[in-house]
Amino acid sequence: MTVIGLGAMGSTMARTYVAAGHPTTVWNRTPGKADGLGAVPATTAADAVAAGTVVVISQVDYPAMFDSLADADLRGRVLVNLSSDSPERLREAAAWVAERGGTLVTGGIMVPPPGIGKPGAYAFYAGPVEAIEAHRAALEVLGRVDHVGTDPGLAMLYYQAMLNIFWTTLISYFYSAALVGNAEHLRPYVATMLTDLTQDGPMGFLRILTRELESGEYPGADNNLHMQAVGAEHVVQAFTDAGLDVTVPSAVAELFARADAAGFGGNGLSALAEMVRKP
Ligand code: NDP
Repeated sequence: MTVIGLGAMGSTMARTYVAAGHPTTVWNRTPGKADGLGAVPATTAADAVAAGTVVVISQVDYPAMFDSLADADLRGRVLVNLSSDSPERLREAAAWVAERGGTLVTGGIMVPPPGIGKPGAYAFYAGPVEAIEAHRAALEVLGRVDHVGTDPGLAMLYYQAMLNIFWTTLISYFYSAALVGNAEHLRPYVATMLTDLTQDGPMGFLRILTRELESGEYPGADNNLHMQAVGAEHVVQAFTDAGLDVTVPSAVAELFARADAAGFGGNGLSALAEMVRKP
């Protein structure tokens, strides 16, 4: 195995491969990051690529790969890039690697460093099925392999879809904790809500709203959107009165207000999806 990029993620990946018994070569732009990993440090990125058929890359973004591997011989190499970037940049990168005789597998890894290789870890992979299947066992050292399609952009599309939920949910928690002034007090209520959202039952909104999104019907008899638009303004007012930042609550209220103005006031929450599709 070769691992390129030894930040928080890449260094843990290298350590995980070494622990799993894979002879591992590593390279990082700034020297000294290989110390203590138990892997073989390469002097140049080109040397690191030459050392292994499969090259796992974890850097801040894809331009870092373009910089690092500009002089590397990629012929016959499978590059598995688990860095973040836009889906369009990933498609460009697949062409960039192919022009140099290599194959790019893109990936979006869904755990922080301590979760790598642990139960529950997984990554979205995209790109050629043959390359992924040929190296599935090596990729599974990091976590479950979920191949989401051959379009190289898909790995990041799924990753970003999940990151959007992760960030907005936890950022909303920060806002609410600030409003209450006691995060520990609020935490059990939030935990119950997050669990209930994913279960069956009257609070199981993930399933209920998924059905509505799929059908394109947004019933609002029990909780109409106009009522929620008014309520969202009250949330903004509560934060304003408490002297807190209103960036996120205001964005939510603005989305509600646009949907209400567009005539969805009698529909339910899922009608907001229409605003997402037609900004
Ligand atoms: P770090 O900031 O810890 O490490 C960034 C790495 O990128 C370093 O090895 C750095 O090298 C390298 N790098 C940056 N710019 C260049 C460049 N121009 N040329 C060569 N190397 C470069 O980030 P993480 O390890 O936390 O994250 C790596 C990737 O994994 C990111 O894309 C991130 O979005 C993704 N990710 C991170 C998660 C996390 O929880 N940390 C979870 C899931 C995905 P140098 O040491 O020389 O600066």
